[in-house]
Amino acid sequence: MPTLENFTAIQAILLVSILMECFVALAWLFLAALLPPARSAAVHWAGFALCQGGAFSLYLLSGYWSQFPVHATANLLLLTSLMLQVRGLQQVAAQPPADRTFLALLLVAAMAQVIWLAPEDTRWRITTVSLLASGICAWSAFQLLRLLRPHGNRAQRLLSTLPSAPFFIGSAIFGLRALLALLQPEQLIQDNRIDQTIGISAGLAWLFLSFGMALALAGVVLYRMAIKLQQAATHDALTGLPNRRAADDFMAQEALRAQRRGSPLSALMIDIDFFKKVNDQHGHAGGDHVLQALARLLQQRARASDMVARWGGEEFLMLLPDTPAEGAKEMAEQLRRAVQNAPLRWQQQSIPITVSIGTATWTSGPFHANALIDCADSALYQAKNSGRNRVCVGAGGL
Ligand code: GH3
Ligand code: MG
Ligand code: MG
Repeated sequence: MPTLENFTAIQAILLVSILMECFVALAWLFLAALLPPARSAAVHWAGFALCQGGAFSLYLLSGYWSQFPVHATANLLLLTSLMLQVRGLQQVAAQPPADRTFLALLLVAAMAQVIWLAPEDTRWRITTVSLLASGICAWSAFQLLRLLRPHGNRAQRLLSTLPSAPFFIGSAIFGLRALLALLQPEQLIQDNRIDQTIGISAGLAWLFLSFGMALALAGVVLYRMAIKLQQAATHDALTGLPNRRAADDFMAQEALRAQRRGSPLSALMIDIDFFKKVNDQHGHAGGDHVLQALARLLQQRARASDMVARWGGEEFLMLLPDTPAEGAKEMAEQLRRAVQNAPLRWQQQSIPITVSIGTATWTSGPFHANALIDCADSALYQAKNSGRNRVCVGAGGL
């Protein structure tokens, strides 16, 4: 074995890469223990780092051991690591893992090692393995692009493509390597020393890329968790509708727009009649089913610019930008009739329900969200007091 002093540059790079992969694997295992929702993906990515580390160790040892089995195992480990990476991304995206494809690719790679066993066939071995690695890296890159499907402005959209960059670059490096092996094999395989078979620049590039990939994957986990947290903070878990806090934000934004443009903003407060009886007769699960069905119905009937929110227990708020009082009343009437005629069923029983709706419209002057909601609430109260299953229009100085 060599001493540290007579290590070549590529051996030093491989050693640093091995240590880094061990460190990255440990970090993923730590994350897996701390974050149960990300556990499965994190364990896959720990496997990715360990297999990479294993492949690097074998490349390092290939200078001292018999070349063929060591190189073949290292190549297969490298491909396995890249597949574990994709499999982890599939876990994050809640996609079924493509295990059959992975196995088929590994089989092709293993066959390539055996068929092109002779040293003069090295170019075909390198070409096959590099092409497969290039394809899997590109697969990861596209998975990432899909996972981080961009929202927001142009700068945010551009930023969200950044994590896929190391994977695209990795794909390009492996692709170039395959091309080089085909066109100028003597450049790539000058003799059996690992300095030539790997190349210092390729080794260094892979060291940085591998670290970049680990950072990108960590970024994906953080991004997905941030989205989940934001979703939980602004949406109701039962119906999936925006909650009261999101409705308040929407109202504040729409109020500014309405004031700027001088267009009316209407609100409908919708409350299920005698909902307690639904719970009593069909149980809480039956009641929940009714709330979900009503949420869907309201969403289907809302325009793209409207917002439907779950305001409280069995109360929903609908905000209608650019809608005058008559339009709001018309919409409320349509909704009331649609709910009355909706074929709601739960466990083979039909559950007829009706709703009472209070409407309110802001047209001019300073906007106060509380005043709009109070006005819709009073109209709802009036609808309840005058027999339910009806629409009342809120009056007041809005
Ligand atoms: P009214 O016609 O006057 O509105 O009568 P109501 O029975 O609909 O109104 P009330 O406010 O007396 O009762 C509302 C019921 O809604 C009581 C509560 O248990 C139920 N509820 C609130 N949130 C949920 C929920 O998430 N799921 C279910 N199943 N029931 C809920
Ligand atoms: Mg009610
Ligand atoms: Mg109520």
